[in-house]
Amino acid sequence: MGDPTALDLARKRRVIDLTHPLVPDGVPACPGHPKYNAEHTFKLSDGAFANVHTLTIGTHTGTHIDAPYHFYDDACPVDRLDLSLLAAAPAVVVDVRHKAAHEAITWEDLRKYESGIREGAAVLFCTGWASRYGRPDYSDHPYLEVDAAQQLLERGVRVIGADTISPDEWRLDGGDTGMVHRIVLRAGGIIVENLQGLEDVVDSGWENPRVSLLPLSLAGCDGSPIRAVAWER
Ligand SMILES: [Zn+2]
Repeated sequence: MGDPTALDLARKRRVIDLTHPLVPDGVPACPGHPKYNAEHTFKLSDGAFANVHTLTIGTHTGTHIDAPYHFYDDACPVDRLDLSLLAAAPAVVVDVRHKAAHEAITWEDLRKYESGIREGAAVLFCTGWASRYGRPDYSDHPYLEVDAAQQLLERGVRVIGADTISPDEWRLDGGDTGMVHRIVLRAGGIIVENLQGLEDVVDSGWENPRVSLLPLSLAGCDGSPIRAVAWER
């Protein structure tokens, strides 16, 4: 028996999928956003040369990222993001599963993760809300307080994500629901929404998780669905 080959190591490596599957009629969308669909354009069973689908999809469909251009006309679109922030980034997964509906996540909740909170890190909030995906109470999630977002930005963090539809509170009274979006995107940051599987990363006990959160290269667009994955370095 020699040393393990690269292929042996790759086979052993566990990858956690952080992405909600895209299923027609199974993807909750913000009001007015396009409803996800995938249908055959060509079908082998109808005698076509190959199977080919046509997609109906929005830039904020399913697990996705928001680029700064989402809120600012003069800011970076999704195809020009710095991919070094999104490819194999060190991840800090903050366990806030004890938070209740509409409860704030504050800087206090982040203190014990402070050593990992630095430039280049992706800070991802595990609220446990992914299990409510598609249910009416999915939008009643805990939310990130503006001060906590500000502190992350001051420490050089540019990627902030959650297993919720938004890091901002989804206000039932129609109040402002975009404060965290504004300060993160204005600072050139990137917001990741509708993640799933973060509890598996927390419960894995991994000491140095990495994540990839890669968008499609949609020229001039404000966001993109992503395939998000985590692994231990
Ligand atoms: Zn979005």
